Amino acid sequence: MTQHTDVVVVGGGQAGLAAGYHLRRRGLDFVILDADPAPGGSWQHMWDSLHLFSPAEHSSLPGRLMPAQARAIYPGAGHVVDYLADYEKRYELPVQHGTRVDAVRRDGDQLLVEADSGTWQGKAVISATGTWSRPFLPAVPGRSVFTGQQLHTVTYRSPADFTDQRVLVVGGGNSGAQIAADLTLGGQAEVTWVTQRPPRFLPDDIDGRALFDVATSRRRALEEGRTDTGGVASLGDIVAVPPVRAARDAGLLTAKPMFSRLTTNGVQWADGSHSGADAVIWCTGFRPALAHLAPLSLRGPRGHIPTDGTRSLGEPRLHLLGYGDWTGPASATLIGVGRPARDAARAIAQLL
Ligand code: FAD
Repeated sequence: MTQHTDVVVVGGGQAGLAAGYHLRRRGLDFVILDADPAPGGSWQHMWDSLHLFSPAEHSSLPGRLMPAQARAIYPGAGHVVDYLADYEKRYELPVQHGTRVDAVRRDGDQLLVEADSGTWQGKAVISATGTWSRPFLPAVPGRSVFTGQQLHTVTYRSPADFTDQRVLVVGGGNSGAQIAADLTLGGQAEVTWVTQRPPRFLPDDIDGRALFDVATSRRRALEEGRTDTGGVASLGDIVAVPPVRAARDAGLLTAKPMFSRLTTNGVQWADGSHSGADAVIWCTGFRPALAHLAPLSLRGPRGHIPTDGTRSLGEPRLHLLGYGDWTGPASATLIGVGRPARDAARAIAQLL
């Protein structure tokens, strides 16, 4: 049986919840379908020691400040899960957990959302499925012949899983630096950090707060037709969160340039030398999880769906939230998603 509503939100992580908050304020009828059986979006799957790169009050969704975590300036991932679970409950957001959406199709003047547990018909859809379920692994020569363990950021949990192992951590972004730091500070593994280009640490006094300020002033400049002030990428790639700083200052976080290939039992470097390895952790990023939108044929360059703000250019009843800056500046952060969520809800209210 098909269920009817104004708006179907696909994904119940922070982006889906922020959308729900603003849809409720606009008095729209909606449902949030979320594949995970429990609240928290991807935060419930992150590694044990992960902490935010901003203090709690700078990591809040609309309407409710994230409470500080006892004895931690930068809250841990578990604290974020608790906050999101509380947010969902507090605003009585209609989230159906354990419901995976397989396809969104056009159906006359409505959109049909097909999930594993039923079908919904909505006048509009907000897609907020994040990137966590689409880990990206680069095509590196020899990847299929390596007989050791290979994993991605999404399955890394803790240094205890690598006791006495030779581990290669590949990737010069925040995940690579943080996992390399976690392993080296854990002291149980022999760690080699490998990056495509020399790592670019942000100045120590720059955390998520400052990054958000930079993103905000850039957005304002662009809105007012002033010169582009440059985004956060111009400052560096790696936020020097306390563990990263500690590992770097102890000389444990020096990166080697990328190896030329994997072998059955290790890696071959550009100079022809060889190192043995038991495990490779690919911290090589993510792609947006958009497979459910394939029937709408909206894909543009780089696997993104072309948008004006959050609204799909090819399907005005569809909005995209989160994912990356292409759906709004800082839209894939806790503090940044509130604004595009508000804009999407407003545009949908006007459309309806
Ligand atoms: P997600 O949290 O991934 O939620 C998406 C939801 O959609 C999930 O619950 C999933 O089950 C569901 N879903 C997916 N596909 C389907 C489907 N087909 N049908 C139904 N449901 C589906 N941001 C910050 O603000 N501060 C930080 O310190 C910070 N640190 C980060 C550290 C790491 C390692 C990473 C990877 C990201 C970090 N981010 C940080 C960025 C960002 O806040 C997170 O990635 C955040 O989880 C994105 O939220 P989201 O709601 O867009 O996606």
